[in-house]
Amino acid sequence: MNVEASPLFDVATPFDLAMQERDAGALFVVNHSGGKDSQAMLIEVLRYVPAAQILVVHATLGEAEWPGALEHAQAQAEAAGCPFVVAQAVKTFFEMVEHRFKVRPGPNSPCWPSASNRQCTSDLKRGPIQREVRRYAKERGLLRIVGCMGLRAAESPRRAKASPWQLNADQSVAGRTWHEWLPIHDLSTPDVLRIVADASQELHPAYAMGNERLSCVFCIMASANDLRNGALHNPELYAKYVEIEKRTGYTMHMSRKSLEELTGVPA
Ligand code: SF4
Repeated sequence: MNVEASPLFDVATPFDLAMQERDAGALFVVNHSGGKDSQAMLIEVLRYVPAAQILVVHATLGEAEWPGALEHAQAQAEAAGCPFVVAQAVKTFFEMVEHRFKVRPGPNSPCWPSASNRQCTSDLKRGPIQREVRRYAKERGLLRIVGCMGLRAAESPRRAKASPWQLNADQSVAGRTWHEWLPIHDLSTPDVLRIVADASQELHPAYAMGNERLSCVFCIMASANDLRNGALHNPELYAKYVEIEKRTGYTMHMSRKSLEELTGVPA
């Protein structure tokens, strides 16, 4: 976390701006997937923001996400004394995929979400989270929101370009200001692991099973390692994905290779 203003230009850093919001009484919404980055982010945010000003939100994808992800996020929030809310979309991941297959305009429109059209994130995560935060803030008359995400620059070139602090203009309406903050944007993977270890906390068990990241068990952007691990430890869910791939003719992963090809695990 960058805690100092630039000595050359004396420009407020994202951290400075976040602390101004803290001092103005903003609600800090920590988006917690159950993964290591979310976990380290909550530890870091708690160093500077009182638990009473934090809300931890987990957007659940039900059976599509790693078992125990919700409970892992909830346990950390509750141990820190932060309220915890689950955001759930009306439709499931599989209902979204089946619907996309049914209404697709042509053979070049895959039924799975893609890196360029991440309907899974927008409809199943971002939308439900924003709805829960608006409800929570309205009930308490809160007009300043800081949404915190655990994205890190080291994860991908696209994430490296993400702004660590910005106004969410769509959600800043009716007297409410809503900023988006990436509190651990500049941290490395070893930094994240050290923060969790220094706090004497355990990671979700999927990491001990060999996972590099924790998201949907079969994420459209996952590494072959994580997909294989997911297949070995979640055979029923794996079989469901493979059946959809075979029935629809569309592969789930952004590499356009089939799951069986990527994992080497027959369903
Ligand atoms: S983890 Fe992957 S598949 Fe799941 S919602 Fe996020 S981008 Fe989509």
